[in-house]
Amino acid sequence: MDKVDIVVIGAGAVGLAIGAAIADKDKDMYILEKEEVYGQGTSSRNSEVIHAGIYYPKGSLKAELCVKANPMIYGICEKNKVPYKNCGKLIVANGESEVKQLEGIIKHATDCGARDLEMIDKGRVHELEPKVKADAAIISPTTGILDAHGLMDHFHREARRKAGTDPVVLDTEVTGIKQIKDSYIVEMISGGEPFQIESSIVINSAGLYSDRIAAMAGIDIDEAGYRIHWCKGEYFSLTGKPPAQMLIYPPPPQDAASLGIHSVPDLTGRLRFGPNAFYVDEINYAVESEKEPFWRDVVRYFPTVKLEDLHPDMSGIRSKLQGPGDPVRDFVIKHEEDRSLPGFINLVGIESPGLTSSPAIAEMVAEMVKEYLN
Ligand SMILES: Cc1cc2nc3c(=O)[nH]c(=O)nc-3n(C[C@H](O)[C@H](O)[C@H](O)COP(=O)(O)OP(=O)(O)OC[C@H]3O[C@@H](n4cnc5c(N)ncnc54)[C@H](O)[C@@H]3O)c2cc1C
Repeated sequence: MDKVDIVVIGAGAVGLAIGAAIADKDKDMYILEKEEVYGQGTSSRNSEVIHAGIYYPKGSLKAELCVKANPMIYGICEKNKVPYKNCGKLIVANGESEVKQLEGIIKHATDCGARDLEMIDKGRVHELEPKVKADAAIISPTTGILDAHGLMDHFHREARRKAGTDPVVLDTEVTGIKQIKDSYIVEMISGGEPFQIESSIVINSAGLYSDRIAAMAGIDIDEAGYRIHWCKGEYFSLTGKPPAQMLIYPPPPQDAASLGIHSVPDLTGRLRFGPNAFYVDEINYAVESEKEPFWRDVVRYFPTVKLEDLHPDMSGIRSKLQGPGDPVRDFVIKHEEDRSLPGFINLVGIESPGLTSSPAIAEMVAEMVKEYLN
C-alpha cells in the first residue's frame, strides 16, 4: 500500500488552493478527485464574484477570510494572468425601508472590515449606471468578477510546481476512511479499481459531499452539526446589450439563504440574473423554475428588461450547513484533534464566499498542517 504524508479529498477551488499552499518537494501529497476533470463541482457553477465581505456575521470565518482574501485574489489574478475585472458593485435600494436597510448594511460591513464602501444618492447611481432604478445605493469598488477555471488552473500549476510532480489524481472517489494508530487508510475507487493509501494527514475538501467524508472518518455529523443541506441556485441569461457594467444587487432578502436575484456580468460581457435559492434532495443542474418571478425581481432595479429576453442558463448547488428556516451558519474549518482524529482536517459548509476566500482558507489550513507536523 502507498504511504503518503497528505491526502486532500476534492479538487475544487478550495482543495486546489490548499494543495497549492501546502505542496512541497519533501512531502508526498495526493489531491483525490472523483470526476475526470477537476473543478466540475460548485466551483464551476457559481456567480464568479470576487466578494468584498459585506454580509457575513462579524467575527465569522466567512467575514474574516473573505475580507482577507479579496486583495489576495486580485493579486493572484494580476500576477498570474487569471482573467478578472474589478467592475465594482452597487447594492440598490428602492423605497424608504430598503434605504434604511442599506444604512444597516454599510455600518455592519464596515465594522467587519469591508473596504471603501460608500452610500451614494439617486443622481450618482444614474451617472454610474443610467439604466438602473434606485433611490440610493451602496457602492463597493473592491467587488469584481473572475474566471473561476483560470483561478483553479493557477492553483493546480502552483501545486504541481511546488510538489515537483502533479498531485491531482482524477477519476478517484474516496469511499472509506479507517483510522489506524497515527494515520488513516483512505479507501477509494480509482479508474474503476479499488485502491487504498495510507496517509498521516487527511484534508476533507469534498464540497457537497464533505459531510459524508466526515462521517466516513467516524464523526456523528448530526451531533457535530456537520450535515450539509443542498440548496440550489438557478440563473437566467439576458439576450441583447447588458443594461449595466457593474454588478447590481438588491438588499438581501430576510430568508438569509441567498443574496437576492442580482445581475452578474461575465468576462465575455454576457449578463446573467440569479441565483434563486431552494433546498433540494438530489444533484440535478437543470433550470426548472419559472422565469417570471425572476423577472419581477429584476425589473425592480432594471425596469427596461423584458420578460422575453430572459432564458434559462445554468445552476449551482450550495453546500449549506444552514437548513430551511435555520439561522446563518459559518464555514467549518477544523482540525479534529479533539474528536480523537489527529491529522484529520474538515472543511464543511464552504458555501459563498468560498471561491473568493479560497486563498485565505488555504493559508489557514496550511497553518494547521504546519502546527500538526511540528
Ligand atoms: C449558485 C452559487 C453561487 C455562488 N457564487 C459565489 C460567488 O459569486 N463568489 C464566491 O466567492 N463564492 C460563490 N459561491 C460559492 C463557491 O462556489 C463555493 O464556496 C466554492 O466553489 C466551494 O469550493 P469547494 O472546492 O469547496 O467545492 P467544489 O467545487 O464542489 O469541490 C469539491 C470537489 O470534491 C469532489 N468530491 C466530492 N466527493 C468526493 C469523493 N468522495 N472523492 C473524491 N472527490 C470528491 C467533487 O467532485 C468536487 O470536485 C457560489 C455557490 C453557488 C452554489
